[in-house]
Amino acid sequence: MRDGTALPSAYCCSMSPSSTCPVPSAHRRLMDCHVHWHAAADAYMEPETFRLNLNSLIQGLRNVTFLLQSQKRDLPSFENWYGAWQRAVKDDLVMRWAVSARNRIVKQSDLEMHSTALVRLSFDWLNEVEEIVEVPPHYTTHRTIAGLLSAIPDLTEGVVTIERRWVDVELPSRELLDATRFVYGCLARVVKLAHGAAGIAVCDLATRKPECRAGAARVATVHGPVRRRPALARRPRHHDPAN
Ligand SMILES: [Zn+2]
Ligand SMILES: [Zn+2]
Repeated sequence: MRDGTALPSAYCCSMSPSSTCPVPSAHRRLMDCHVHWHAAADAYMEPETFRLNLNSLIQGLRNVTFLLQSQKRDLPSFENWYGAWQRAVKDDLVMRWAVSARNRIVKQSDLEMHSTALVRLSFDWLNEVEEIVEVPPHYTTHRTIAGLLSAIPDLTEGVVTIERRWVDVELPSRELLDATRFVYGCLARVVKLAHGAAGIAVCDLATRKPECRAGAARVATVHGPVRRRPALARRPRHHDPAN
């Protein structure tokens, strides 16, 4: 998760008490969200683990604002900077979704997630076809690939690549890791405002752990015999399925 959301820094052990952070509970909860986001990214191809981490992430994101609000009497000019931030995000589609998603998870059930996969069959350098298919949310990568291979008649050598994409039915236009990264960025800004209002330029709470790293595992590749299906249409190769 690299999105310019770094907070005032100067890092020490995350278990040590903070002496400078004006909002330690909210700040720590935001860092927890970072851990959950990466755990969800790492489990992108494993439906149950992805769901579990996504649920924790969405609840944690919401709790950041609850924790800030609970401290408002202690925070200088709270109504000014928090009110301005609130007005700036209140009509944002993704921020509104985050509030509603948290309420659904806490009060009703899991999100109703849809999953698609961009399937690319590479027979050789010149013969490659791809198609976006619906994948049942509970399907693991192994089951998805097994299902695809068994559905195609002519056997040949090649490579199958699957890029999965998760969305919530109430926010179909945004991939879920992308949406939650956006929410995280908005919350990091308000936590940063809290530091600024308290005159804290350098917070001694720990930085994000684990370190951000690229390459969330949204892609599975299988080499070996794949079956050719002429019905698969060629599509542009610059498709961006999962941001
Ligand atoms: Zn990160
Ligand atoms: Zn802090």
